[in-house]
Amino acid sequence: MYIGRFAPSPTGPLHIGSLLTALASWCDARAKQGKWLLRIEDVDTTRTQYGAVDHIFRSLEHFGLTWDDEVVYQSQRTELYQQALQYLEQQQAIFWCRCSRSQLAQTGQALYTGTCRHQLHYQPACAARLCVAASTYIQFEDRVFGNQYADISQTVGDFVIYRRDGLFAYQLAVVVDDALQGITHIVRGADLLDNTSRQIYLQQQLGYPRIHYAHLPLIVNHLGEKLSKQTGATALDLTTNPSPVLWQLLGLLGQHPPSCLQFSAKDELLMWAITHWQFANIPKQLKLEHIF
Ligand code: GLU
Repeated sequence: MYIGRFAPSPTGPLHIGSLLTALASWCDARAKQGKWLLRIEDVDTTRTQYGAVDHIFRSLEHFGLTWDDEVVYQSQRTELYQQALQYLEQQQAIFWCRCSRSQLAQTGQALYTGTCRHQLHYQPACAARLCVAASTYIQFEDRVFGNQYADISQTVGDFVIYRRDGLFAYQLAVVVDDALQGITHIVRGADLLDNTSRQIYLQQQLGYPRIHYAHLPLIVNHLGEKLSKQTGATALDLTTNPSPVLWQLLGLLGQHPPSCLQFSAKDELLMWAITHWQFANIPKQLKLEHIF
């Protein structure tokens, strides 16, 4: 059984780049008669923007991207993350790190130098880092970008899974949630491609099953920057006809909906998209320039 998901962070309203991700992941799940779950990634409560969750729901509804089951909120799953952290501590897979940002900067090294590696037991006001031993090679086959292979002790080093400010890091929350929700396929933006080997390593440490990954090209603005709140992406306009927008996005994804569907009912266009979905046609490039 295919189980996919869309996992936006409610740090601002959805923009056209997030809609592209949602659409591709939805089509891939529906084309395989799978489930498509919605998870609100509000683990970093300090970044949640008022009204963003509501805009996510209304946008998905406006564009006809229906989800299954109840929406999951990371902010309500702290206990699950705590259990995973405890398990890793028992396995001596983590250590407690009290290094401040400025101390880390002073080392002059891009990667963590291992200062606190000996601290295997909980210490207050510390971050928890996952140990990444020398020569930890992670390999996976991305469905868009092909074979990926890296020694994460050289590219990432010991990474934080619990923050000094008492919040769980995205890496831990996403891995725990994907496993507990039974996700089999992840389709998301290429900005997260370099997070994947870390997440696979964490899955291995927690004894979770492997997931199929696909990373999508990102829509960029005229400066070549990924659309985001920081780069001034505009919120999706929910007053206009959804079909022409979906039609253009399907085109960007290498699908070729007939022009007669551009102004048809969104459900008709989406039905076409599921029945004609050709994953292999998604362009294998990191950036998609398109002015909406
Ligand atoms: N919450 C992340 C974001 O909005 C996506 C995480 C994921 O798809 O794994 O960028």
